[in-house]
Amino acid sequence: MTVSRVSSFQNGGKEHIELLGGKGAHLAEMTKAGLPVPPGFTITTDVCRHYYNNSRQLPSGLRDEIELALAELEKEQNRVFGGTDCPLLVSVRSGSVTSMPGMMDTILNLGLNDATVEGLAQQTNNRRFAYDCYRRLIQMYGSVVYDIEAIHFERVLQEEKQLQQCKDDQQLTEQSLVTLVHKFKRLIEQRTNKSFPQNVREQLQGAIEAVFLSWSSPRAKVYRKVHLIPDDQGTAVNVQAMVFGNRGSNSGTGVLFTRNPSTGEKVLFGEFLMNAQGEDVVGGTRTPIPIAALQDALPEVYAELSSCAAQLEKHYRDIQDIEFTIEDEKLYFLQTRSAKRNARAALKVAVDLVNEGMITKDEALMRIDVQHLNHLLHRSLQATADHVVIATGLPASPGAACGQAVFDADTAEEWKRAGKDVILVRLETTPEDIHGVIAAEGILTLRGGMTSHAAVVARGMGKPCVCGCEVLKIDEEQQQLIANDIVIREGDWLTLDGGSGQVIPGQLELKEADIFPELLLMLEWADQIRSLKVMANADSPLDARKAREFGAEGIGLCRTEHMFLSPMRVPIVQQMILAEKEIDRQVALNRLLPMQRYDFEEMFREMDGFPVTIRLLDPPLHEFLPNVEELTTRLALMRTSESDIHAERAELERMIRRVRELQETNPMLGQRGCRLGIMFPEIYEMQIEAIFQAALRCLCDGVTVQPQVMIPLVGHVNELHLLRKLVDQVAEQVLGHERRNCPYKVGTMIEVPRAALTAGEIARSADFFSFGTNDLTQMTFGYSRDDAEGKFLTHYVENKLLPHNPFQVLDTEGVGKLIEMAVIQGRSRNPLLTTSICGEHGGDVESIMFCQRVGLDYISCSPYRLPVARIAAAQAHIRMQWEMTLQEQAV
Ligand code: ADP
Ligand code: MG
Ligand code: MG
Repeated sequence: MTVSRVSSFQNGGKEHIELLGGKGAHLAEMTKAGLPVPPGFTITTDVCRHYYNNSRQLPSGLRDEIELALAELEKEQNRVFGGTDCPLLVSVRSGSVTSMPGMMDTILNLGLNDATVEGLAQQTNNRRFAYDCYRRLIQMYGSVVYDIEAIHFERVLQEEKQLQQCKDDQQLTEQSLVTLVHKFKRLIEQRTNKSFPQNVREQLQGAIEAVFLSWSSPRAKVYRKVHLIPDDQGTAVNVQAMVFGNRGSNSGTGVLFTRNPSTGEKVLFGEFLMNAQGEDVVGGTRTPIPIAALQDALPEVYAELSSCAAQLEKHYRDIQDIEFTIEDEKLYFLQTRSAKRNARAALKVAVDLVNEGMITKDEALMRIDVQHLNHLLHRSLQATADHVVIATGLPASPGAACGQAVFDADTAEEWKRAGKDVILVRLETTPEDIHGVIAAEGILTLRGGMTSHAAVVARGMGKPCVCGCEVLKIDEEQQQLIANDIVIREGDWLTLDGGSGQVIPGQLELKEADIFPELLLMLEWADQIRSLKVMANADSPLDARKAREFGAEGIGLCRTEHMFLSPMRVPIVQQMILAEKEIDRQVALNRLLPMQRYDFEEMFREMDGFPVTIRLLDPPLHEFLPNVEELTTRLALMRTSESDIHAERAELERMIRRVRELQETNPMLGQRGCRLGIMFPEIYEMQIEAIFQAALRCLCDGVTVQPQVMIPLVGHVNELHLLRKLVDQVAEQVLGHERRNCPYKVGTMIEVPRAALTAGEIARSADFFSFGTNDLTQMTFGYSRDDAEGKFLTHYVENKLLPHNPFQVLDTEGVGKLIEMAVIQGRSRNPLLTTSICGEHGGDVESIMFCQRVGLDYISCSPYRLPVARIAAAQAHIRMQWEMTLQEQAV
């Protein structure tokens, strides 16, 4: 069925929402369902588009169509529009496709003038009521059509109330209302030089145009921008016969939710006012009464209301937000829509609806907003807590944290050990601060973007982080933070909200993350449905345990260089890097071996029965090198001092020379990844030895181990070929005849474009591919991430040169194409090849959808992103199935 430009509520339905707008479509839907809805018609969004495309002219012929629809309405209501005996009154209501609450206008009681108001008075035998309607009409018409600020009418109203010494509008006498009508008309004349139209058709025309015009009001425009609603969506206009909640003490109006929208509890939830009309409830002029009280006031109406509410919920299969009016004990429905609800309620309602048989598990899963869910999984500020915000930075890692401010990583660690909660405040963080980040409850940096080092590390650890808070000043010498006039010294309490970017002085009470039964159930359903496996990025036994808790089916990425980051280990690593002779390097490696073995062993145990993917060392070398300036200063000090510490001095000189030697012009493209492993095979050899020794120990204890050795940064098959041989050799040596009980795999990261381009070749030497989308993005775009994010990337995104930051949302068109190609080529040469993605993109919803489409086997992300990833993977699977069904139907 097609919809005409002017369409009666009897002809529409929710399938026509694009043309009828939400309100009109659902009024029609309710009419069809047999609910008591005052009749009326909708002028479509097409007309709105026409209006704006034709210098604000309504289409010719529209007037006649409206006349026809009006005539129908008159017949149905047995009243006459503009008639003096039995006048028909209507409301003219806006109705956008996407709900924009309060952004556009509505006029009630249209059709009243000096003559019809008397007719209404006679017909209802209630002149006070008739004049109450009339003054409301003039008031609304004045502000909506003539743009007079509501406050002017409000002032006149207040004066009259004061004069009559009455508290609220209901107490105004008939005479007062007559006076108000006069005064309101005068107000319009004074302010606009026009008079309130006595011709009801002129009223209608003015109201319809005003509603269309309200589509381009500044507040509506802003709202659309924020909520990404397209400007050409347009609004419909609904013209509807009036029903009167202001007709006396057996009348009223209210708003009803079919369930509690903040808890999800299955009880009617809402408010109403007796003897009131429309806006009175939301307008805040009177305080409404909880809906339960209606049960006592009008029990039969309440019973009907509950049964209709249930019917509506069943019809829409979702919780509804309903407007109703009672006229003389008769109930009418004026609007229904899916209710806005908070994240927790959304989950509870979805689970309840499944249990009540109203929706399927698939539908329930699809209704979860994963962004919302993300917030639920972290600690948050108590909603009631009132607080001073001294600055707002970038919301880099969600959750709230509270602790005492410290300004360097060592202090953070020290204080933490002493049992204090700390917030690490830094100008920016570097990898050398890692122990401080580990110790801190939250991180605040003045520089750096959403993907700065601090942000990435914090998200990986599930720690709240606020970045790029440039309005703050740090006085590093004095160890204090200055914001406006507030000074935060070391030890002062600070609270961060990483979800909003707020920085708050003092110690605020926090609410724990909400892991409640409905969420667990939903995750269980997601696991039953999804086809993508979900693994975790974990670099320590502790991370591995968290990962299991959050449902990981293995470790997809263990970055061994992260294992070297503790203050105890860094000097040994430096010794290893700075060694000039292999024998010296071996000394350092011998010290590192047991440490690595211990970590791997613990991780295997945590992951009993699941694969653990260990990436061999891939350090950006410069991040581990000692700072040359620092060394030089130390040397200078030594030279001036008298004492004879010759050997130490020589060693320092050697270190400085070696650091200079190792420094690279472009470390990102330098001797890293497998290039390092090839130049210094003893490093990888040690790591492989540690892996298999750990595996062997676990095997002896009956733990099922599945080590997966991952070679980073391969660009040519020969690199992989060579290193694979090394793995096999060492495995043979260490495992001996236990080798058959330890089914290990060797694979590579695909992160250099050349590797993606020659994936077929590489797949012959690889058991698995893991797409390292961070490096692959860097190299495909030719951006160094740190430079890009610090310099031009924000500008690019803001000016729409790029749709997103490609380090956050996978660039499916470019980087994605490489991935897709590599998967196809790789599988064709090696049918047993498994493919996956690791890195931050593994936790992003859109990127997960992409992984599903290209048929990857699993995704790997930080443990804290796992619940979101599990749900998103289920959604991706369901979406694919729906799409496939649609395609089959089309054939
Ligand atoms: P909004 O989109 O701002 O809620 P509405 O068009 O829903 O605007 O109308 C505002 C108020 O007027 C609501 O409370 C609604 O129920 C009431 N209302 C609208 N049309 C009628 C009508 N025909 N009879 C009685 N009340 C109405
Ligand atoms: Mg409404
Ligand atoms: Mg990499």
